[in-house]
Amino acid sequence: MSRFWSNTVKTLQPYVPGEQPRISGLIKLNTNENPYPPSPAVHAAIAAANDAALRLYPDSQASALREGIARYYHLTPAQVFVGNGSDEVLGLAFLALLKHEAPLLFPDVSYSFYPVYCGLYGIAYRTVALTADFRIAVDDYRQPCGAIIFPNPNAPTGGLLPLAEIEDLLQAQPDVPVVIDEAYIDFGGDSAVALIDRYPNLLVVQTLSKSRSLAGLRVGLALGHPQLIEALERVKNSFNSYVLDRPAQAGALAAFEDDAYFRQCRDAVINSRERLNAGLRERGFSVLPSAANFVLVTHSQYDAVWLAAKLRERAIVVRHLAQPRIAQYLRISIGTGVECDALLQALDTILNFNG
Ligand code: PMP
Repeated sequence: MSRFWSNTVKTLQPYVPGEQPRISGLIKLNTNENPYPPSPAVHAAIAAANDAALRLYPDSQASALREGIARYYHLTPAQVFVGNGSDEVLGLAFLALLKHEAPLLFPDVSYSFYPVYCGLYGIAYRTVALTADFRIAVDDYRQPCGAIIFPNPNAPTGGLLPLAEIEDLLQAQPDVPVVIDEAYIDFGGDSAVALIDRYPNLLVVQTLSKSRSLAGLRVGLALGHPQLIEALERVKNSFNSYVLDRPAQAGALAAFEDDAYFRQCRDAVINSRERLNAGLRERGFSVLPSAANFVLVTHSQYDAVWLAAKLRERAIVVRHLAQPRIAQYLRISIGTGVECDALLQALDTILNFNG
């Protein structure tokens, strides 16, 4: 360990990103990307932004994109923040809104980036165990704290909290910031965006990486009261003055404008998820209820790490996460119908499934 390192670096356990393997004929079901390409309108907008205008700095306010998102959600641009993927937006939110003397609360099991941000920024936190059936119980968050964050649907479990329960929590905790990380909300949940005008402590974070097929473009957003948005802007401006590059601003706006394409891809993913769930259950897996574009599954007879290795031999990559409570689970991203069928066929061979 280098003597030049700060204590923060010495104790930091960095986030381990999902692998981007280089395997020919790969069926990639490990990082919850969308199996469908982005809207053709996105390609056209990026091509246009990639012309001579690339010579010019981007709009540091991302005004056209923020106006487009505000129109989409019936908000004002002052209620919209954009950043390079929701990981960056979350990072800014941790620093700007979630660092207090009292601990931040988030679930165990949940998104493994949260403790990393806490370590990086010196934020005190306390995890709240999920119920025995892996649900978030909002009543467990009615305790003194500095702030609250959780994904809805939760990741990597996929469990969805109904909006009424989120509203109960907001009513019980009116004095602390509450961040709902809606990376997967489009695959089957009601967005808490509907509550923003009534709860000035609510920040909703979303991404274009999942339901809008733009993980490679790196665009995320936060929606909330203008004062929460201003807090994010202040911290952002201390790091980098240009929020998103020109192609990202143009491509993201085009994605929000092509709602028909968005709905079509989302519905296809939801259909595949329901078919895959049924197929996995037939093969002896327990599948946690999921409103996301992934499922968390376990098999009573086969070890999760062994299964992942066997699938990988067949060029199918799924994710095993290093969280103790889900050590015997695999997270499988929802692919196209063809990819899901290939997964089930591979499992038939691996499990020697006879019908
Ligand atoms: N939140 C959750 C719960 C996630 O699973 C992810 C994806 N790893 C993110 C946020 C970040 O997504 P992105 O940075 O691509 O917007």
